[in-house]
Amino acid sequence: MISPIFHSHPTVLPESRISDYSYHHFSKDFLVFKKIQINQKRRKLCINQYCNLTPKFQYKKQLPEQKLQDRGKITLCLDLDHTLISTSTTQIENYDFSISLPIDQKRTQKLYIKKRPLLDLFLQKCSEMFEIVLFTASVKSYADKVLDILDPDNNLISHRLYRGSCSFYNGHYVKDLCLLNRDLHSILIIDDAKFSFVFQPENAIWINPFYNNLDTNQFVDNQLEDVLSILENVYIQHNVIDTLASYRNK
Ligand SMILES: [Mg+2]
Repeated sequence: MISPIFHSHPTVLPESRISDYSYHHFSKDFLVFKKIQINQKRRKLCINQYCNLTPKFQYKKQLPEQKLQDRGKITLCLDLDHTLISTSTTQIENYDFSISLPIDQKRTQKLYIKKRPLLDLFLQKCSEMFEIVLFTASVKSYADKVLDILDPDNNLISHRLYRGSCSFYNGHYVKDLCLLNRDLHSILIIDDAKFSFVFQPENAIWINPFYNNLDTNQFVDNQLEDVLSILENVYIQHNVIDTLASYRNK
């Protein structure tokens, strides 16, 4: 049976339903704000160090203006690996599709990809509500092959950002939303790697990483369904910071 949250028109969740989405419903640190203690002073330090390292890149806007069909929409940044898909170099029984990447002039590497449960529906519903930016720390050659299959008509994902758009900080690829040419009050990110959004944790939803192996497959992965219910509220309230804060304060 399809959950009522997948009805075409999102509705405000009743109070009783919202209370279900507290920490006991998700994993304890589903919303990462309380877990990553990063104060403004520390954040400025991060930015300053970053600016000193790559002063030119700092001022380069990573996204153009919103397309006509996206004007006024909140921007939703989605991570790829372990958020939407799981990729394996060895053949797995239940993979959804495979791609081949060149290793050198003669050899190729085949990769087997498993889509997270409900991924297609998730992308469809999100594209109706938000401007979707696929923001991955992976390289373009790999990500494009995957995304051309996930979004074959190129009408779900508005923009793609790759490793080159990340900020390298403390050994991690950080996705700095300040660089995306969007109002910080109208942008959010969903990622399984907490360091990805360490500069703007108040704009982030942390999602449990998705791995395609037998152990985790014994459990039903309903993370995208759970996240969608939060996103529907963000869409209705048209306010990222306050809506996500309301979940954190439960
Ligand atoms: Mg990831």
